[in-house]
Amino acid sequence: MINTLLICGGGGSEHEVSLRTADFIEEQLAESEDIDLMRVEMDASGCLTDKDGRVYHIFYDGKIRDEAGSAWDVDYVIPAIHGYPGETGDLQSQLEMFGIPYFGSAPEASKICFNKIKTKMWLSALGIDNTPYLFLHSLEAEELDKAHAALEAWEAVFIKASNQGSSVGCFKVTRREDLHGTIEEAFTLSPYVLIEKALNARELEVAVYTFGEELIATLPGEVRAPSDTFYTYKEKYATGSRAETFIEAEGLNKEQQAWIRDVSIRTFKALKLKDLSRIDFFLTDEGELYLNEVNTFPGMTPKSMFPKMMENHGHNFTEYLTGLIRSSQSD
Ligand code: ATP
Ligand code: MG
Ligand code: MG
Ligand code: MG
Repeated sequence: MINTLLICGGGGSEHEVSLRTADFIEEQLAESEDIDLMRVEMDASGCLTDKDGRVYHIFYDGKIRDEAGSAWDVDYVIPAIHGYPGETGDLQSQLEMFGIPYFGSAPEASKICFNKIKTKMWLSALGIDNTPYLFLHSLEAEELDKAHAALEAWEAVFIKASNQGSSVGCFKVTRREDLHGTIEEAFTLSPYVLIEKALNARELEVAVYTFGEELIATLPGEVRAPSDTFYTYKEKYATGSRAETFIEAEGLNKEQQAWIRDVSIRTFKALKLKDLSRIDFFLTDEGELYLNEVNTFPGMTPKSMFPKMMENHGHNFTEYLTGLIRSSQSD
């Protein structure tokens, strides 16, 4: 039996989304005969509890212990946490220290991708087109002047907390008078704030993952937010969301598809991602393609694109994950 610890929740704004991702993963492994799955939920203070409320700690000897002292060997961890401390790489640092193999990217790659500014610095250095941007380190007058100049030049901007997901801390601003307050709000969520040119664009997503020895980039899928808003938290997850998803984006020409898949593979390799990612793009009304962001632990809720795009590519998620778990034990 491979003792696999599924850790979900976490201390970030995406706690609830993570629980749904964990439900999906649990279902996928439910029938497995050689994988024994134990699910624990992490709260904001890092405390791990199982469904009966029993509290656990992970130890440097690779064991998890409950407070009565019962120990359980951990062979593999699935850090199913969007945002802190999973997608940020912090939990993975601890697992590296304890020598426990885990699903997904290592700490460094996770950190680069979860910080939207770091990601953009990398992409720009690699020559990969991404949305025009600048970033602010404070609310000082000089910094705000830069933001005002950007809004004037671009007419509409996206203000983003540098390290969040699920559209938390992500705002569209078109009016001068809203700029200061919105930047201030973004600063409550992260130490740096990203300002991007707001694009009129289609949103394309690619599932990029390793299957055996192969690195796969699926055909791009598409998410379409209602025209009066963007792809907000509510449109992503709320019941009654009006967003539409398409497992294959229609009407892309061969060159566009090839560019997107090529850039996806290049990014995955250059940023040294591991196992999985969902890489998102914009296709503007003028036909320009930009990489938007790299998600090292994409959502796997019933509405999420990653598992669907993988299945559409012909790979079964259960086989994929059990394959990874098994091969982690033979290294
Ligand atoms: P995820 O849940 O995918 O991790 P996120 O919180 O990391 O999302 P982004 O993907 O950067 O945030 O932005 C959220 C949404 O905001 C996008 O899906 C898109 O609808 C809109 N958006 C972000 N940046 C821009 C832009 N520069 N131009 C137009 N729309 C944008
Ligand atoms: Mg993201
Ligand atoms: Mg995300
Ligand atoms: Mg996104």
